[in-house]
Amino acid sequence: MEKNILFYVILAILVVQYLVHQYLEYLNAKRFKSTLPPELADVFDEDEYQKSQKYKQTNYKFGVISDGFSLVLTICFLAFGGFEWVDQITRSITEDSISMALIFFGIIMLGSAVLGLPFSYYRTFVIEEEYGFNKTTKSTFWSDKIKGSILTVILGGGILSLFMLFYQSTGPNFWIYTWIAVGIFILFINLFYSRLIVPLFNKQTPLEDGSLKSSIENYAQKVGFELQNIFVIDGSKRSTKANAYFSGFGKEKRITLFDTLINDLSEDEIVAVLAHEVGHYKRKHIIVNLVVSLLTTGLTLFILSLFINHPEISLAIGVSKPSFHAALVGFALLYSPISELTGLIMNYLSRKFEFQADDFAKTTFAATPLVSSLKKLSKKSLSNLTPHPAYVFVHYSHPPLVERIRNLKA
Ligand SMILES: [Zn+2]
Repeated sequence: MEKNILFYVILAILVVQYLVHQYLEYLNAKRFKSTLPPELADVFDEDEYQKSQKYKQTNYKFGVISDGFSLVLTICFLAFGGFEWVDQITRSITEDSISMALIFFGIIMLGSAVLGLPFSYYRTFVIEEEYGFNKTTKSTFWSDKIKGSILTVILGGGILSLFMLFYQSTGPNFWIYTWIAVGIFILFINLFYSRLIVPLFNKQTPLEDGSLKSSIENYAQKVGFELQNIFVIDGSKRSTKANAYFSGFGKEKRITLFDTLINDLSEDEIVAVLAHEVGHYKRKHIIVNLVVSLLTTGLTLFILSLFINHPEISLAIGVSKPSFHAALVGFALLYSPISELTGLIMNYLSRKFEFQADDFAKTTFAATPLVSSLKKLSKKSLSNLTPHPAYVFVHYSHPPLVERIRNLKA
């Protein structure tokens, strides 16, 4: 079959993206062994430093292999008519366009989930296990996968069906209705994420009364932050790595601390981490992130609405009959350079916000315990202390440790 020009554009996008990302990985890997800045000299002892070097190398090699595998597979699938094959199967089952889209995406996502399984299994039970991070049991691993898939089917399938209903009933304005629906969905998930999604995977318990809770409450009161919800999550069920995060807004706002964080950090350090999270809220980062994601969603849907009716977009993925679902795949592939760009902007913004939240913690609480908590967390997760600036620019949502420490000490 004659391939159209967009088919080759898609191949070029995939290859260029792969090469750029691999080059960044390579640049980053070249700096693994560079000397540590003096501020970070006390993060690791010699043994741990060697271990962190090995961990970075292992992850680097794993990434080269898994990214390479996924590129080769995608290109073969495109080149040998994989989408056409799935489209034929779909069309043999139903003629209804919404059902067709659900089956089409169902098959493709099932296929990629199955092919991705060995990689995810290897990462958890070989790499993370070898470095002592893994606490996930086999049964947790499988139940996570099953619950994740069910959630994707329900939420993804629901949104896709709604999207197509709008397309069928409102014509060229479908993007506005879809935007509103997706917007409501994003808001809803933001508000109720901790209440509805997290309990499917983790146990959350309110932080028990005691000196930690009173220190936190004292701090919250001092900065005028109304805090009813402090929860402890059983992160130790999966990994020794520690974390804390903020979610929701208004009455639904809450701070979630990993049990691993509580075990590893001193009381002052925990309050400092919490002060950083409160900083995100006080500096309106939660709202700004929400608005930015609403705007990028709207922009993407608008651009989609300009192209969705061009049969070339469908045919670009090698199918013989244009359809809404094929056009969505074609669009997603062609749009990916723009998604990369919005991703860059989001990461840039996020790194700015991290500095602002650190500054908030510094002025309202103290810099020293935050510095020591960041060092402990980096040590615990064997993080890369000398990332390449270009790699940071593209991939990091948080500034590198040394920059955060310099900022906190400034
Ligand atoms: Zn933060």
